[in-house]
Amino acid sequence: MNEYDSAKMEDVLHAAEGMVLTDRPEDADVILFNTCSVREKAQEKVFSDLGRVKELKRAKPHLLIGVGGCVASQEGEAIVQRAPYVDLVFGPQTLHRLPALMAERRRTGRAQVDIQFPEIEKFDHLPPARVEGATAFVSIMEGCSKFCSFCVVPYTRGTEISRPAVDVLREVAELAAGGVKEVTLLGQNVNAYIDEAESLDFTGLLELVDQIPGIERIRFTTSHPREFGPRLCDAFARLERLAGYVHLPVQSGSDRILSAMKRGYTTLEYKSIIRRLRESRPGLALSTDFIVGFPGETDEDHAKTLQLARDCGFDSAFIFIYSPRPGTPAAALADDTPHEVKVARLQELQAVIDAQGQAFAQRLVGTQQPVLIEGPSRKNPEELMGRTPDNRIVNFAGSAEWVGQIRTLTITEAYPHSLRGEPLA
Ligand code: SAM
Ligand code: SF4
Repeated sequence: MNEYDSAKMEDVLHAAEGMVLTDRPEDADVILFNTCSVREKAQEKVFSDLGRVKELKRAKPHLLIGVGGCVASQEGEAIVQRAPYVDLVFGPQTLHRLPALMAERRRTGRAQVDIQFPEIEKFDHLPPARVEGATAFVSIMEGCSKFCSFCVVPYTRGTEISRPAVDVLREVAELAAGGVKEVTLLGQNVNAYIDEAESLDFTGLLELVDQIPGIERIRFTTSHPREFGPRLCDAFARLERLAGYVHLPVQSGSDRILSAMKRGYTTLEYKSIIRRLRESRPGLALSTDFIVGFPGETDEDHAKTLQLARDCGFDSAFIFIYSPRPGTPAAALADDTPHEVKVARLQELQAVIDAQGQAFAQRLVGTQQPVLIEGPSRKNPEELMGRTPDNRIVNFAGSAEWVGQIRTLTITEAYPHSLRGEPLA
């Protein structure tokens, strides 16, 4: 989501002032930090990064420094108070107002803070997506109304708002016309998508995107178990272009903890979604998010999480140690689990996931996979890199002309974080 928003900031400044990206901070006229406040570590990083660019401003007084994203949304004015050299503070829903904020800052000489949630306005004021390569993100909804007890997102990004389906479909069609073959539909909870005027839910939207000529692969992230109904599961049987990969955050394998997290589902309900998905699409790759060390989590709760990880056969996962966020209900709960215990739980869970991931990758060896070729391999620029439908990286020898194409490769080797392949003759 933040990568998408950063690209939009770049587009907005390019369209308004002809600005281009630089990777040298000392060359910049504007330095923007796009921030995350989902965990404390990410939040603290912003202030240490800001300290580093402060010096640049002394040498170049016209330099504008901005803080966007969820830390900006949460802290607002407090950022300018703590770091008075910051010129612009804007939230995830006001990034399209950047040119106006910059103009106002230049005119008045005063720092500008705009962290409102002007509903859907953001989508209407963004320049058209620029096509670079064969894959693109398309934002379909913003915000979150779930209010899980540990999470800041509903407070920093606002409540769930869907983008009109015609706009989404037009953007996808334009991307396809520009050579994009894979789109990732983006939102905090994409399956909460609803276009009431068109009586269209997320599954309905997927069905329409699937009919757009030129789009060969459809992904989405993130989805939430609460709205993952049978129709969406069954879409994986019907819609061939839907990639065989789902990221469905579960957070915990203990019903007691899920309830304290206010996730709105039980482990049984979660497992039945997975069963139905696997019936629809055998061989589906499944990833998830876990939080370990939620307040009050016992060894018994943790054992249930390990068991769920095995039962569901996740082959990858993002595992986080619980981080109390100011203003969230969980932050008021007593938390007496020592940090070392939390770290040990994280490592134990990671070991289960890694073993399952390795077994999954091993099963791909000898199979033929359609690989969307993204560009030169990171390890060896003489080679190419692409992704399988289940989002695994494949490195292989091939011609630079193939970039942007989908080609069938035979998978020859599996490593912990990548595969090796050979193009079919
Ligand atoms: N909306 C998605 C969902 O609920 O399925 C997830 C979006 S959330 C921004 C990404 C992940 O960050 C969550 O799935 C959760 O595992 C993690 N997360 C959120 N708040 C956290 C916290 N306070 N401490 C640790 N991890 C957290
Ligand atoms: Fe946060 Fe829960 Fe919303 Fe996900 S569903 S963004 S974890 S509040």
